[in-house]
Amino acid sequence: MKTYNCSTCERELEEREIRYCSICKTILCIDCVRYVGIRRKTIYREYEDTIPVCNNCFPKIRVRGKLAKILDEVFGNI
Ligand SMILES: [Zn+2]
Ligand SMILES: [Zn+2]
Repeated sequence: MKTYNCSTCERELEEREIRYCSICKTILCIDCVRYVGIRRKTIYREYEDTIPVCNNCFPKIRVRGKLAKILDEVFGNI
């Protein structure tokens, strides 16, 4: 059986407990995941959304200006 560990606290996780960082796709547990409010833009409208991120990416995504670029990378395929 495959096991997973949180990349922050290294706790062993069951599959249903796993959360992924939206930026670097690292594995997180529900205690270590952080949610960031972002502004998403489509051709029709702009709206607020929240995405899960890890501790490492949390400071990055809060930097204005970088946000748009990161979102393009993350959501480019949707
Ligand atoms: Zn954790
Ligand atoms: Zn991350």
